[in-house]
Amino acid sequence: MIPYEDLKRLNAPFTEQFRASFNTVLENGYYILGQEVALFEKQFAEFNAIPYCIGVSNGLDAIILSLKACNFPEGSEIIVPANTFIATILAVLQCNLKPVLVEPDIDNYNIDPQKIEQAITSKTRALLVVHLYGKCCNMDAIIAIKEKHNLYLLEDSAQAHGATYKNKLAGTFGDFGTFSFYPTKNLGALGDGGAILCKTAAHNALLMQLRNYGSDKKYYNETIGYNCRLDEIQAAFLNVKLPYLNHISAHKNELANLYLQNLNSNFILPVKHADYYDVYHIFNIRHPRRDDLQAYLLKNGIGTAIHYPVAPHRQKALKHLFTGLEFPVSEEIHQTTLSLPCSYFHTEDNVWKIVEVLNKF
Ligand SMILES: *Cc1c(COP(=O)(O)O)cnc(C)c1O
Repeated sequence: MIPYEDLKRLNAPFTEQFRASFNTVLENGYYILGQEVALFEKQFAEFNAIPYCIGVSNGLDAIILSLKACNFPEGSEIIVPANTFIATILAVLQCNLKPVLVEPDIDNYNIDPQKIEQAITSKTRALLVVHLYGKCCNMDAIIAIKEKHNLYLLEDSAQAHGATYKNKLAGTFGDFGTFSFYPTKNLGALGDGGAILCKTAAHNALLMQLRNYGSDKKYYNETIGYNCRLDEIQAAFLNVKLPYLNHISAHKNELANLYLQNLNSNFILPVKHADYYDVYHIFNIRHPRRDDLQAYLLKNGIGTAIHYPVAPHRQKALKHLFTGLEFPVSEEIHQTTLSLPCSYFHTEDNVWKIVEVLNKF
């Protein structure tokens, strides 16, 4: 069996270093916002060549705190892609803001810049784009719209650590870049974790407060804050893995290239373009008989996944917000996409075997 994902095998190369880091934290006795969090913030900011990084509890909270830091009036409209993991939209709703969904581009699955302007109204305050599957959005087009309409730009980069567009890193184009370190992400912890990148000292100071009860100094509170801190032990694990992030992305690229070069034309493959370095958090293909294809692969010992089976506007929790609206492109993707094994522990031999089975479908 070739599983779609196996977190134990994914992390096997790091276990000795994880144990050493765990012991360091255990023995120094400082378990909340200690030196591991501070070190990770410094190193993740350096990795992304940006002034500030704030470690937070998870990727959803990273988006929520970034939106809170913008201080938009209640009911302001935030443009988000119709085709995303639900967390992006939940964050907008948790802040009492209105998510306005915009269809993706069928070729790269990210928000279609050509459809953004028609969704902008006098209440629009921000573009919240998502670099889905590890491919950056078309940032030239998005930044042009941000500037023309004087909007905030937030990038949900939970799937795109280290991805670039024209050599600039995901999460560094706009006002805030948010990340998740959920265990399956390209930079994954052994539990929950997240981070926010930003460019100004004022935003950094505000976010540092917001994640910690609105406080800089213990028992003195400046704003109405939250408890959304990055855990010290998770930060220690992330410090072990961060130096390998580029290596992890390169390995996923090698596997992706094998798929891209060898799968036959029955499958719609992800596009590659010289302006983009994709990190393949997810390597997906599309096929009109997706469910049959998934069952066929499983019968042949190959695990797959679907990202995602139900479009956000069709979810029970959200559908009442989007009645009368249609997102056929997003639905087409949800009905036909299939994610193939492309984890750090998968081998080229695994991919050759999967290609052979797929090409016989
Ligand atoms: C994983 C993910 C999130 C949420 O991250 P958590 O750490 O699980 O809260 C948000 N947006 C996208 C696009 C994601 O893939």
